[in-house]
Amino acid sequence: MNINWNTQIYCLIGHPISKTLSPIIHNNFYRLINENSIYLAFDVKEKHLSTIVEAIKILDIKGFNVTIPYKTTIINYLDEISEEAKLIGAVNTVKNVDGKLVGYNTDGMGFIKSLELNNIDVKGKNILILGAGGGAKAIGTSLAFIGVDSIFISNRTLGKAKKLSEKLKHQFPEVSIDYGELDLKKIDKKKIHMIINCTSIGMYPNIDKSPIDLDGFSKDLVVYDIVYKPINTKLLKLAQDKGYKTMDGLTMLIFQGLYSQQIWLDNKNYDIYEYYDEIRRNLEKYVE
Ligand code: NAP
Repeated sequence: MNINWNTQIYCLIGHPISKTLSPIIHNNFYRLINENSIYLAFDVKEKHLSTIVEAIKILDIKGFNVTIPYKTTIINYLDEISEEAKLIGAVNTVKNVDGKLVGYNTDGMGFIKSLELNNIDVKGKNILILGAGGGAKAIGTSLAFIGVDSIFISNRTLGKAKKLSEKLKHQFPEVSIDYGELDLKKIDKKKIHMIINCTSIGMYPNIDKSPIDLDGFSKDLVVYDIVYKPINTKLLKLAQDKGYKTMDGLTMLIFQGLYSQQIWLDNKNYDIYEYYDEIRRNLEKYVE
């Protein structure tokens, strides 16, 4: 990396951000496309959020990502947000256009792109989402947007599943949406085409935990776990034992990052598939 007077700065803000993989994704991307830019991670306390946003404008930082816990609160500091971010109700990517801050959400796009990469067509399918937090919100919204047949949201805290379900029903009346607890008592398992784990169950250090067991589903089930630490979670191992197709969270993570780059670099028509394999190889060294 050749840092000089012309190096552009991009960054991540969140709290805590320990061991975030974003700098690895973005700095590898800059290396691969030979771009004179650097990506840093800043751990920002809530009381400093507005000052940091001002500093970003003053320093002419061209773009930044936003992670937990600021994906919703950051909206108060932005001049504009994209339709997608509006629908999801959260922003993870901000572009600084001459001092005007524009917010986007690339989590849902990253997820959908990861399905395309694996030739998985979800249009008209029945989807079971485990969890009702930020990841579930972005993925549920994107799936409803592209036209799945039904979404069932299962969550430990029923009130949160209800809230997300009502929001999606209101936004996408043509999609059948329901909710329940993680015991799955309310669903007909045989009708489910895809399960997406959006809870943090199974995430390091609780790597021996799975959010559900996989008895009773049809043989064509696809199991997607958005948790990426570890890459091969307990849920994915259970699914592999049953012969189901599986997808891990690293793919979505890389694509949401590459979509942020597309936004920051003015959609210079990067073929984002082209960089996926190399970035993934580099990331795998950091996640077991
Ligand atoms: P979040 O907003 O905090 O939501 C966490 C979800 O997990 C909630 O539904 C919560 O249920 C559930 N949960 C947590 N601990 C639980 C437990 N012990 N038992 C049952 N349910 C539990 O977090 P998030 O941003 O959606 O992230 C969730 C996971 O997805 C994390 O592992 C994160 O790293 C991963 N993620 C990956 C990507 C990617 O690009 N691959 C993107 C986003 C997130 P309650 O509502 O009951 O609390």
